[in-house]
Amino acid sequence: MSADRLSSVSKEVKPESVSLYPLGTAAAPEQELLCIFGTGDFGRSLGQRLLHSGYRVVYGSRRPHSCGPLPQGAQAMSHEAAAQLASLVFLCIHREHYDFLETLTPQLQGKVLVDVSNNPKKNLYPEANAECLQRLIPGAHVVKAFNTLSAWALQNGPSDANRQVYLCGNGAEAKQAVAEVATKLGFAALDKGSLSAAKELEDFPLQLFPEWRMPLYVAVGLTALIFVYVVIRDVVYAFVEQGKDNSFRIMVSLANKVFPIVSLIMLSLCYLPGVIAGFIQLYRGTKYRRFPDWLDRWMLCRKQLGLIALGFAFLHMVYTLIIPIRYYVRFRLSANTISQIRENRTSVFDTTTAWRTDSYYSIGILGFSLFLLLGITSLPSVSNALSWREFSFIQSKLGYLTVFFCTLHTYLYGWSGFLRPYKWYMPPAYMLSLVLPSVLIVLKLLLLLPCVDRSLTRIRQGWERTDMQDGSEKPLLT
Ligand code: NAP
Repeated sequence: MSADRLSSVSKEVKPESVSLYPLGTAAAPEQELLCIFGTGDFGRSLGQRLLHSGYRVVYGSRRPHSCGPLPQGAQAMSHEAAAQLASLVFLCIHREHYDFLETLTPQLQGKVLVDVSNNPKKNLYPEANAECLQRLIPGAHVVKAFNTLSAWALQNGPSDANRQVYLCGNGAEAKQAVAEVATKLGFAALDKGSLSAAKELEDFPLQLFPEWRMPLYVAVGLTALIFVYVVIRDVVYAFVEQGKDNSFRIMVSLANKVFPIVSLIMLSLCYLPGVIAGFIQLYRGTKYRRFPDWLDRWMLCRKQLGLIALGFAFLHMVYTLIIPIRYYVRFRLSANTISQIRENRTSVFDTTTAWRTDSYYSIGILGFSLFLLLGITSLPSVSNALSWREFSFIQSKLGYLTVFFCTLHTYLYGWSGFLRPYKWYMPPAYMLSLVLPSVLIVLKLLLLLPCVDRSLTRIRQGWERTDMQDGSEKPLLT
């Protein structure tokens, strides 16, 4: 862009004015000029996106003549000159450099200042960056926005995963101006309120898998517990009681015991809160009272519990596939064959065992396939393509069927093992994994009893039980 053209723009745009256009209208003039302070990663990505969306861009930089390659069509100049040209200024610089902005107070008076900054960690400063900026330049309209996007996401444009631009600020018109830009860039602007929400927005990119934390703790805790249990039962017991060194079994045999157990318990934990919620609603006779906090939190991490359970089931499947190529298994097979030849004996084909093992594998494969279906349909891109009815059919009906298949798979694995004497009073580990899913299935069957199901369905449709005190029925919806 030529300097002449910029100077003509400077006449068009009054530095003190705020450019405001209602959302969703086409009233914005073509080729509006926006200013960006900072020619770093974020500034360049934002500039490129703005240019692609039909804006003109001018950069304010400390070194306008040596600031490196800029997006084609943009021009760099001093902060003072750039600030005067546009009514909306993006500050793409780090908070620790904000102090120099005080010297630009006259140029930034009445302008919309978009603070995109983040901090390397939480609570680094007593006040939010945007609030600090507002204090530095009280005459400007500071809006916190775009900080939850990365430079990379900006460059690539909005995708399903990051379509939202959260914004907050004290001036409604300034926020509307920023929302207009975000919308034009293809993002969905979400107003989070006044500038006091800036701290929350600044903490947002610092979150580390918040909704995964509890399910991961549960998975790690369960894995450790079950692992110690099977090591004591299968390795320590054999060493102490029989003088046998079974420690080599840790790598595959024991791992392949731990994974399915954790998977089944976590799958049950994924469905258990829904059943508990059903009983609570039946007991209370209404759906309009909040669940206890612990149940709310538990329900919110069901998807993560299910996905981790699927991960463990996948490991179990892979470990099972390698069984035939294991040295230990091949050795035992050939040793057994040789001993039969030596002793001139033949083992008899046992139809019951054949039925049992085939059923065990077949039900396991069916359970795993349904489990995969649950995992795939929980992906946002897939679930967005399903109607609510389709989604709940898969996640609820097929989900319980998955629990049933996986539980049956484990019962078939145990078979007569339930009756064998325990080692050191410790039952086999798979029995532990059956407690929760068995309880879940029984509770679910109780909820499916026609009389119970009818009451619960009515409650979920808004019906409330007759008030015990005044004997009158409450309205369906209050
Ligand atoms: P960067 O690559 O380090 O660029 C920062 C720019 O600030 C520099 O290029 C420089 O531009 C300017 N600057 C540096 N020191 C300065 C000083 N003492 N006084 C005035 N200006 C100075 O950083 P960035 O990644 O672009 O991030 C910029 C802002 O965006 C930060 O607040 C960051 O938290 C936020 N943000 C970044 C991302 C991301 O993905 N990168 C995502 C969200 C938010 P000049 O040399 O042209 O003056």
